[in-house]
Parts: sequence; C-alpha cells; structure tokens
Amino acid sequence: GLRLADQVWIVTGAASGIGRAIARLFASQGARVVVADVTQQVIEGGPPTIDVISTEGGNAIYLPTDVAQREQVDATVAETVSRYGRLDGIVNNACIRHARTLLEMDEGNWERVLKVNLTGTYLCCRAAVGQMITQERRGEVRGRIVNLSSQHGMIAAPSDIAYGTTKAAIAYLTRQIAVDYAAQGIVCNAVAPGKIQTGATGRAIDPDVLDRAHRRTPWPRLGLPDDVARAALFLASDDASFVTGINLMVDGGWTAA
Ligand code: NAD
Repeated sequence: GLRLADQVWIVTGAASGIGRAIARLFASQGARVVVADVTQQVIEGGPPTIDVISTEGGNAIYLPTDVAQREQVDATVAETVSRYGRLDGIVNNACIRHARTLLEMDEGNWERVLKVNLTGTYLCCRAAVGQMITQERRGEVRGRIVNLSSQHGMIAAPSDIAYGTTKAAIAYLTRQIAVDYAAQGIVCNAVAPGKIQTGATGRAIDPDVLDRAHRRTPWPRLGLPDDVARAALFLASDDASFVTGINLMVDGGWTAA
C-alpha cells in the first residue's frame, strides 16, 4: 500500500531541487503535500512542483512561506491544519548558501544564512510540534519531523563557514527535539546528503569542484535528489519505528572514507 496514505506533510523549499523530489515522492505515496517556499520558480527548470504533482495524480498546494519569518511559518501551519485537519509531518529542507571563508564572510551574510537555514528550521519545528502535540496519535506517533542537514555539517566544506555551521547545528537541534518530545509521540530525524546534483549545485559549484567530489565519493556516481527523497520517505514512514534523533548519511560513502 501507499506509505503515507492520507497523511498531511509540509515540505519547505519544495519549489526546486531536493525539496521538489521529496514533495513528488511523498505525494506519490498518498500524502497531501504543502509546498512551502518563497517562490514557485524551479531553479533547474520545468513547471511548478504543484503542477507536476497534479499531473502525476497527486495532491499538493502551494503556500508562499519565508521560513525565516515566524508569522509566515505559523500562518502556513495554521492554514494547513484548517484545510486538512492535522499535520502529520514537516520536512525542513529550505536553505540558502553563501560560500565564503571566515575572513571573507561579512556579518550581514553570516546572519542571513543562519536566519534562513537554522532559525527557519527552529521556527518550523516549533510551529509543527506546537500543532502535533495537540493531535490524536496515528499508531504510536503524533507527528514526524525530517530535517535536512548535510555531510558539510560533519566535515568542512570548501569555504562554506556559515552554511556548514547551520547544518551541524541542525543535526544537534534534531537530537534535542527527539529527546524532549519522544514521550509525546513526536519523532525527529535528519537526513544528511552528500554531493547531490541539483540545479543549485550545477549553478553554484564549478566543474572542477564537482569532478573532485565525484572522485572523492566511493559510490561511483554523484547523488541524485531521489536518493535523498527515498531516505526522507523512510524517516517519514512507519518503517522508521523506534528511530529518532538520528542523522542519516546519504552520501555514497563520502563520510565513511
Ligand atoms: P536548492 O537551492 O536547489 O533549493 C532550495 C529551495 O529552498 C528553493 O526552492 C528556494 O526557493 C527555497 N528557499 C530558499 N530560501 C527560502 C526561505 N527563506 N523560505 C522558504 N524557502 C526558501 O537547494 P538543494 O540543493 O535542493 O538543497 C535542499 C536541502 O538539501 C538543503 O537543506 C541543503 O542544505 C541540503 N543539502 C543539499 C546538498 C546538495 O548537494 N544539493 C547537499 C547536502 C545537503
């Protein structure tokens, strides 16, 4: 059967890239998906995520949401619950990058990256858990959170001090929420992708860096958005019973090598 039948999931940053792949896979598994993003513009090209999902026979709506703005996050959770009656899960995927070393990074951009990636994840977890703890359990679970960290929260990325810092912090935030809310039926895990080929990756990273990443990854190809989406689906589903607080590497063996 469908693994997320009748469930309601918010996916932040689902206009493009990995978030888009997650939204499509979750919708294909029966979830009603809320695409929460600042735009519907697809970085890698193609029709908006909600149109693709509808073509594929799934159910998705777009709610414009800047994850860094508390009122917008709270409004998106409230609108989701008023439409569908509950919130089964949220995937905190929205992020920005600003690749700089310590001395190159000015305070404004440092704060902007922390605000979207880390504060945004905190605000979304806070709004989601606030709703989830009021809900009936489905089986053992009131709600599930899947956060996006990164291999670059475990090992240093070339010149990406703010981004990597937020991704390390997200792995910690994930553990803390898992521990504090387990008794109330909240499951919180993270997925940590390695180098994934998205529109953003192709645009932002020069071919030499991609080539080096490829040679550095034991599995003989770069990752694809669907590799990450399948891991997120596992953490979103009842298959992940008794799994909480983990940071699941999806990196082709990069951090193992
Ligand atoms: P992407 O840049 O392709 O997409 C990011 C999405 O987030 C876009 O749709 C963008 O509009 C949205 N967004 C940006 N700021 C936002 C805001 N303030 N509020 C709401 N939405 C906002 O990114 P991606 O490569 O698909 O990465 C997705 C996630 O996966 C990120 O959390 C990233 O850290 C993680 N990740 C990616 C890679 C990779 O190689 N691509 C590797 C490790 C981790």
